[in-house]
Amino acid sequence: MNDIYSFTEDNKEIINLLKQVVTVKYGNYKNFKFKKEKYIFQKKIYKTIILYAPLSYNENTVDAYLLKNQNIIYKLAYHCFYPKKTEIPDNKILYLGSLYDFKLKPEIHNTYKIDENTLTIYAGRNLLHKENLLNFYHKQAAYIFPARVYMCAEKLKLNIKAVKTGVFKSYWGSCGAGIIKLNERLILSPLNTIDSIIYHELAHILVPNHSKDFYSTLEKIYPAYYKDHIWLNLFMPAEYPPKTAE
Ligand SMILES: [Zn+2]
Repeated sequence: MNDIYSFTEDNKEIINLLKQVVTVKYGNYKNFKFKKEKYIFQKKIYKTIILYAPLSYNENTVDAYLLKNQNIIYKLAYHCFYPKKTEIPDNKILYLGSLYDFKLKPEIHNTYKIDENTLTIYAGRNLLHKENLLNFYHKQAAYIFPARVYMCAEKLKLNIKAVKTGVFKSYWGSCGAGIIKLNERLILSPLNTIDSIIYHELAHILVPNHSKDFYSTLEKIYPAYYKDHIWLNLFMPAEYPPKTAE
């Protein structure tokens, strides 16, 4: 039988991500069904999405179903917890969602040069040392976050008084009295993930609480909210600065 599905490279990439979010279980089911389930792994409780699939369906049918329902999956994953899947080799630096090589360049002293094409960070100090790495993250967050916030705020024609960054234990961002606070740890995540948090905080200027109204406003101003937020659930390292592999 010929396969009726053909996936583009972009589709395959999305399916690959979705398969990290959803666990597929085949069984004696009549139809597809999503369910959130808790499980214990190495003494910790996690919450994932299960897709129950009929035994007679092949992998391509399942992949097509995942792709078609990606927005539902992103939304379901919003409150899920996963064992973090980011492994950082000890000679690499996680920055804006990518793993960068590090090259020491003593002649540039206290500054940095970031080459996004070759994914290389040059610095006058050894960034593979914890203190120097934290300093690098701190400076980059203080430089990138305000620029991003003002850019997003301008698109929505909202006024922001100040942008502050800090390392907070229990939240990614906050918003009050026109001041946006962003967690410095977000410097590890891709720019679109940082944007998703910024838009969440900006949406609070329009709707202060976490009501249904808030989330529908947020989806209106930033439709990719749930999709871009997923990186935090799947990949954000548990420690800051992140631990490298031994
Ligand atoms: Zn909020």
